[in-house]
Amino acid sequence: MKIGCPKEIKPQEFRVGMTPNAVHEAVAHGHEVFIETGAGAGSGFEDDAYVAAGARILDTAEEIFATAELIVKVKEPQAVERKMLREGQVLFTYLHLAPDPEQTRDLLASGCTAIAYETVTDDRGGLPLLAPMSEVAGKLAPQVGSWTLQKANGGRGVLMGGVPGVLPAKVVVIGGGVVGTHAALVASGMGADVTVLDRSLPRMRYLDDAFGGRFKTAYSSPGTTADLIATADMAIGAVLIPGAAAPKLVTRDQLSTMKAGAVLVDVAIDQGGCFETSKPTTHHDPIYEVDGIMHYCVANMPGAVPRTSTIALGNATMPFLLALADKGWKQACADDPNLLNGLNVHAGKLTNYAVGKALGIDV
Ligand code: NAD
Repeated sequence: MKIGCPKEIKPQEFRVGMTPNAVHEAVAHGHEVFIETGAGAGSGFEDDAYVAAGARILDTAEEIFATAELIVKVKEPQAVERKMLREGQVLFTYLHLAPDPEQTRDLLASGCTAIAYETVTDDRGGLPLLAPMSEVAGKLAPQVGSWTLQKANGGRGVLMGGVPGVLPAKVVVIGGGVVGTHAALVASGMGADVTVLDRSLPRMRYLDDAFGGRFKTAYSSPGTTADLIATADMAIGAVLIPGAAAPKLVTRDQLSTMKAGAVLVDVAIDQGGCFETSKPTTHHDPIYEVDGIMHYCVANMPGAVPRTSTIALGNATMPFLLALADKGWKQACADDPNLLNGLNVHAGKLTNYAVGKALGIDV
């Protein structure tokens, strides 16, 4: 099969859909791979590396879209890219169609078959192509939070791990899923005193079994959250209620109970945020202050570390990409119900029930 990987054109997107390793595997499976020149540069993969792996470099996105039967990307296709999609072509990327009727309309009109990373499932009901980005964002959260805690950045001037004779920072992680677990691991690794709040007892039992001693767990009730927030140097928001906006677990009034210069890192900002005072920020201007409390609310945190993020995403997409290329999308989806769950659009029809429901379109 002819596989094409264009350069991402969404502003501030430095990831790329295929690594040279992915190219190498695809070529070993007998496929032809076409990479747009410069596509991997933002992630530190130059054209030479792709050529060495067996790819052909093409000069423009137009050539990639015209040549490939399967397009592999990271972000949803932008308007100019959607115009280049055609009937019978397969698109494999993040789509997030539910809040995006314009993109949905264009994909339906194109006649392409679009498989969305974010709705591909695994056998345990997880989302294997979202998890790597949650792992990255979770591990970044204490890193950016500790930078924000520095005095020059508006923070309390507290060192995460303390030093002999000085207590470490207190960190509260709200939500003990993928983001929260990775955040807690890094924060505790930096020497902070970490408590993870969740509402799922099985999840807290698992965390206690797996990591007991490295951080504590507590049931996420409004009272416990209020008590812990009042003494925290940093709170990391990592909750998710699938299909719903994040619940507001810390109100503006509660900020006055917190220590001046404490830091809120709201990773859940892409679902609206779990602190009442959160609003989305960018890597260029990531932090702001409300009532003496510093906020970090970057909606695409993995974009800060595109090389790690690209490799992590590539590891997760690889088996699905190979199945699509080896068998063709129809057989690959027939053989694997988890991949079938990723199918969002085919030949002018929406094929994902949840997406259709969100958009008010019959599936
Ligand atoms: P997840 O499903 O693995 O974990 C969510 C956890 O929240 C679950 O354990 C759940 O029990 C818990 N939870 C639900 N309601 C709660 C409550 N009231 N109090 C405490 N815990 C509660 O999800 P995840 O992959 O860890 O993602 C968490 C959030 O981070 C999502 O909103 C996701 O979209 C977001 N995210 C953001 C970025 C970014 O760049 N900002 C990157 C990746 C993920």
